[in-house]
Amino acid sequence: MSLTKKLIWLGEEPLPPAEPRFLSYFQWRYKRFRPFTLPVRRLNMTSMARAETIEAMRQLVNSIPPYPRRVMAQYGVALLPVHDLWDDTHYMLGWGGGRGHDRKDGYDYIGGICVNDGHLAVVAETVRVRDRGWTRQENVDGIAWHELGHSFDRALAAWLGLDVEVFSLTPEFHEAWLEDTSVFVGSYRSQFSYYLQPDGAGESEAFAECFAVTQGKGGLASNSKDFLEHFPRCLAIARSFVDKA
Ligand SMILES: [Zn+2]
Repeated sequence: MSLTKKLIWLGEEPLPPAEPRFLSYFQWRYKRFRPFTLPVRRLNMTSMARAETIEAMRQLVNSIPPYPRRVMAQYGVALLPVHDLWDDTHYMLGWGGGRGHDRKDGYDYIGGICVNDGHLAVVAETVRVRDRGWTRQENVDGIAWHELGHSFDRALAAWLGLDVEVFSLTPEFHEAWLEDTSVFVGSYRSQFSYYLQPDGAGESEAFAECFAVTQGKGGLASNSKDFLEHFPRCLAIARSFVDKA
């Protein structure tokens, strides 16, 4: 297996047209190969992730339970480990930063992101931590599961033929989210503020995190315990899909 391949497909890897014998500027078909909107050639070339991280993420992808794996493979999802989010993803988004994060921080403090309508989940092995500078991220697995949770949210809506973009916007999930979160008062409202964002963002983040929690992980590691107590209804729905035959 080529070491230059960093993009990890959940299903079969889409193959580019036959590699031209001589690369020239005119071989657009090859250069512009973008399965599911992903510029695979560029992503494989520019990710600076270490070989160990890539191998760990390959194993993680292999451990995705059958149903979500099938649903995401059908939709077309790939996981990309990067050194940090400046490697190669920022250009696809413009200067935006991540949801719920301060825009002026750029991507320094963000461990992962899900882009291109859920077709690409990105996880960084390095993040900047306030007052500690750039540092190895301790929760690469948890972040990867969380970002894949966003991909699953999208893929599931397509698989089920829903008229919403993501499953987390269905009345079923919205109700569960409302019931789980409406009881939060005081410190819980700030502890879980990321999952209480308005306009569907809260539901989306809760679904992605529940997906991670079903695997004993969390984008925020402590959620692997805290969500059991505080998001029981959302978690039950996520679990029902994860466990599906
Ligand atoms: Zn998220």
